Amino acid sequence: MSSRLDENDSIIVFDKVFVPYENVFAYGDIDKVNNFFPRSGFLPRFMFHGCTRFAVKLDFIAGLMLKSTEATGVKDFRGVKAQVGEVLAYRNLFWGLTDAMARTVTPWTEGHVSPNIEYGLAYRVMSNIVWTKIREIAENVLASALIYLPSHSNDLKVPEVRKFLDPYVRGSNNYGAEERIKLMKLVWDALGTEFGSRHALYERNYFGNHENIRTEVVMLAEVMGQADKYKGFAEQCMDEYNLDGWTVPDLIDPDDISVVMKR
Ligand SMILES: Cc1cc2nc3c(=O)[nH]c(=O)nc-3n(C[C@H](O)[C@H](O)[C@H](O)COP(=O)(O)OP(=O)(O)OC[C@H]3O[C@@H](n4cnc5c(N)ncnc54)[C@H](O)[C@@H]3O)c2cc1C
Repeated sequence: MSSRLDENDSIIVFDKVFVPYENVFAYGDIDKVNNFFPRSGFLPRFMFHGCTRFAVKLDFIAGLMLKSTEATGVKDFRGVKAQVGEVLAYRNLFWGLTDAMARTVTPWTEGHVSPNIEYGLAYRVMSNIVWTKIREIAENVLASALIYLPSHSNDLKVPEVRKFLDPYVRGSNNYGAEERIKLMKLVWDALGTEFGSRHALYERNYFGNHENIRTEVVMLAEVMGQADKYKGFAEQCMDEYNLDGWTVPDLIDPDDISVVMKR
């Protein structure tokens, strides 16, 4: 994955450049600029896409975790099983969020809907937390298996080296040395290498820094009226009692039923 799928990060400096204003997206149209985020549908759609690709990534990592704990022989320990179960639960959670986004849609322009934005915002924050957690689980349960590996596939082609790799680098549960090495290299590639670490950095900063992605959940709740709804619910509860006790007929105070107080 490192050699084929990594993104090329680079800095492009436009030191001296002519920008024809007629080619600038929405130049001079303040309404269009101001409405891009709230009205264009960009926000819920990018989060729908983001959550789906994240869930696929979790399918992949779930398979790697199941296989690698098999190969190291720890899969049946209760603690390890619990950790792998947690990874599978994260996988299920994010597929659940994509389903929820697609099925409980938000009205958009006339005759159209967009993926549910609240569930999208939930994905945006939770993926941030979950990927970090998954890396921690993998490093805890796989431990040195991630680096108890030869450095190059050529080592397996050298008979003088191979004769030591086969018995000493083999796995449990019938994983031969070659299969175990191939698997562990893949897990390390996904999680620990420069490629893996960049992905972790990416998940933590996917469309917004760690604070923005959280504060925007509050902002949207305020804009959509949800914040007032939640506050109203809390206030409804607070309205049901005062300094003298309950104010609603279905709740009773101690002195309503206390034989002693009634005397
Ligand atoms: C691997 C990777 C891939 C990326 N790929 C893409 C991509 O394909 N497309 C794309 O558009 N972007 C991409 N990004 C950029 C990403 O969206 C930003 O990194 C992210 O939005 C965070 O912004 P930032 O790095 O400018 O950090 P900042 O927003 O500067 O945040 C850094 C820290 O400073 C704090 N901070 C920021 N402003 C203030 C303030 N005013 N007052 C107090 N504290 C503040 C933040 O809370 C945070 O702790 C990528 C980033 C990474 C790391």
